[in-house]
Amino acid sequence: MPKIQQLSPSVVNKIAAGEVIERPASVVKELLENAVDAGAARIDVAMDKGGSEMIRVADNGCGIPADELPLAVSSHATSKIESADDLFSVATLGFRGEALASIAEVSRLVIRSRRGDADSGAELEVVGGAAQPVVPVGCPVGTTIEVRNLFFNTPVRHKFLRSAQTEMGHSIEAVTRLALAHPQIHFTLAHNGRLVHDLPPAGDIRARIAAFFGQELADDLIEIHSQGDGVTLSGYVANPMHSRATGRMQYLFLNGRAIRDRALQHALGEAYRGLMLTGRQPICFLRLDMPAELVDVNVHPTKQEVRFQDSGRLYSQLLGTLRSKFLTTDLRARGASPISTSALEENEAEAAAAGTSELVAWAKQQLGKQLAEQQANPLAAPPTQSSFVVEPSGSHEPLRLHRIDVPPPRRFDIGQASLPDVQSGTSEEKLAAFHRRPVGSRLEDSLASRASASPRNALQVHNRYLVVENDAGIEVIDQHALHERILYEQIRETVLAGGLESQKLLVPEPVDLTASEAAAVLEHAELLAQLGVEVQPFGGETVLVSSYPAMLANLSPAEVLRELVENLLSGGRQPEPRDLLDDMLHMIACKAAVKFGDRLTAEEIDALLAQRHLAQDQHHCPHGRPTALVFTREDLDRQFKRI
Ligand code: ADP
Ligand code: MG
Repeated sequence: MPKIQQLSPSVVNKIAAGEVIERPASVVKELLENAVDAGAARIDVAMDKGGSEMIRVADNGCGIPADELPLAVSSHATSKIESADDLFSVATLGFRGEALASIAEVSRLVIRSRRGDADSGAELEVVGGAAQPVVPVGCPVGTTIEVRNLFFNTPVRHKFLRSAQTEMGHSIEAVTRLALAHPQIHFTLAHNGRLVHDLPPAGDIRARIAAFFGQELADDLIEIHSQGDGVTLSGYVANPMHSRATGRMQYLFLNGRAIRDRALQHALGEAYRGLMLTGRQPICFLRLDMPAELVDVNVHPTKQEVRFQDSGRLYSQLLGTLRSKFLTTDLRARGASPISTSALEENEAEAAAAGTSELVAWAKQQLGKQLAEQQANPLAAPPTQSSFVVEPSGSHEPLRLHRIDVPPPRRFDIGQASLPDVQSGTSEEKLAAFHRRPVGSRLEDSLASRASASPRNALQVHNRYLVVENDAGIEVIDQHALHERILYEQIRETVLAGGLESQKLLVPEPVDLTASEAAAVLEHAELLAQLGVEVQPFGGETVLVSSYPAMLANLSPAEVLRELVENLLSGGRQPEPRDLLDDMLHMIACKAAVKFGDRLTAEEIDALLAQRHLAQDQHHCPHGRPTALVFTREDLDRQFKRI
C-alpha cells in the first residue's frame, strides 16, 4: 500500500467540484442562485454550444467588493452564514461557499463586479483553479460571471457531456426552476446569440408556465392557496386531463428553492387518485413558504432535498387543500382527448348514463366528511383512498360470476356485467374508435365469415374482462392486456421485418415541447424515424412532425411525441436504442389496444380471441402483467364442495 498523504487543495477542490458541478446546467444553477441571493431584479443568461463553450450570467444585484473577489472564488468562503447556528435558519439559496471555487477549478472563469457605492468595478480571472491578480475595470453595478471551456482540465467529465442540445435542455430546466420560483425577477436566456426566453417580472407565474410549457397547459391550471401554522401553500396544479408518465413536471418550491420531496409527491398522487388513469402523474407548480427554522436545507449537496420539521403536517395540508379544491372545481373543463380522459370523467359519464349521477354527489359529500374529520385530526394516517374514486370493482377478487345474473349493486360498482352486444351511446363512439384501429379492423375482416354464426362462448364482464369456457375450465382474460400483447408482437414483427407503416402528414404539425423534451426528440430523430415518426427542428422548443405511424392514426402527433419523449428522458442514462425501440413498441401497442373499460361487440370479442395464437407470450402483456387467469373445472368443483 502506498503511503498516506494529505491531498493537495487542488485535488480536494476537484473532488468537491465533482459533487456539485456535473454539467453546464449545474453551473447555470449555481450562478443563478448567487444572483438571486444578491438581490438582483434582472438576470441575463447567455450560453454558447449548450454551455460547454461559454456560460455568462449577468445580474444587477449588490455586487462584490474588489478586495473580496479572491475570497469569493476560494472554497468554504461565503457571506451568507457566519456560524454553525446559522445553518438552521438559512434564508439564502447558497450557504456552503463552494460553488464558485468548484466552477473555477474546472474552467476558465472571469468575475466582473461592482458595488453600488464603488466608482468602478474589478475583474478577477481564474484558470483551472489558479487565480490571476484582481484588475480594475469599468462595468455597471452588479456581477457578471463568465465560465468558458468547462471541464477543459477534467477530460473524463468532458467526455460525459452530451450533445449541445441535450445540455441546453438541462440548463433551460435550471432556468425554468429559478424563474418559476422567483417571478418578481426579470430573466432572459440566450443561446448561441439568439434570445430564447425573455420573462418580464410578474406577480404570478402563469405567464412563465405558458412561456415554458405552452398556453394550453397554462389555460388549464387550478389555483391553489392555503394557510397553515406559519406555512403558506400557493401556486397551481393542472387539470387532471393533463398528465405525464413521470413526475418530471411536479415543481415544488420551498422558500424560493426548487426541491424534491417524496412525501409531498405522495400527497399529490393521493389527491389525484381516481382522477387520473393509473400510472399517470399529475403536473403542479406549487410553492411552500415557511420560516427558515422549520426546515433543514443542509442535507443534500445540491440542496434538492430538504428535511422538514413537521413533514406530516405539510402532507395533510397539501392533501387537504387539493382535495377540497377539486371538490369545488369542475374538472371536466374542456373536451378531453382519448388518452387523457380521466378515470373520474369516464365513470361520471357512465354513472350519468345509468342515471346514477346522484351517486357522484353522494360520493363528494362523503369525501367532504372525511376531509373534515381529517382536518380535525391532521396527524391521523391519511385515508388510502378517496371515497369518490370509482375503482374497477372486483379487480383483486378471483371471479364474480353472480354479477352476470343479478342486477349489479348500484353503489360505486358502475361497471356491470353485460352481454357483449349491448350498446350504449358512448360505447358506440368507442366502437368507432376500435374500427379505426387498423389492426382491429383487420381482426374483424378475418372473422367476418365465421363470427356471426359462431355460438358465443365468451362473455365480457365489467367492460374489462372476457370470460371464456375451455376444455380445462374457464379463463378470465384481461381484454386490454391481451390485445396489447397481440399488437406488440405484430408491430415488433413488422418493425423487425423492415419498418412500420408510416403516414405522411399533409401539413407537418408543429408540437410545442419543453426545451429538454425538444432536445431529446431531436437528438433521437434517427431512432424515431425507424418508428415512423419523422421530426425536424422548427425553432425554439417547437418540433415539426412530418409523419408518424399509421397505427396511431387516432392519436394526435402531439400526444404521440409527448408519450415517446417520456421514454427518452426517463432513466437518466443514455438510452440503448434497442430498449428504446422496445419501449416504444410497448407504448404503441398499449395506445392502439382496446382499453380496459371499452365495451366490445360479440364480433370484436371473437376477433380478439381468434388472434390469441399470434401472441408468442399470450399469458403476459408487454408490461409483464398476466393477460389471463385460468380456473380449472377441478378448482371450481372444489370451491363448490362438489369434490
Ligand atoms: P455561496 O453562495 O454558498 O455563499 P458561492 O461560492 O456560490 O458560495 O459564492 C461565494 C460568495 O461570493 C457568496 O457568498 C457571495 O458573497 C459572493 N457572490 C457570488 N456570486 C455573487 C453575485 N452574483 N453577486 C454578489 N455576490 C456574489
Ligand atoms: Mg452560491
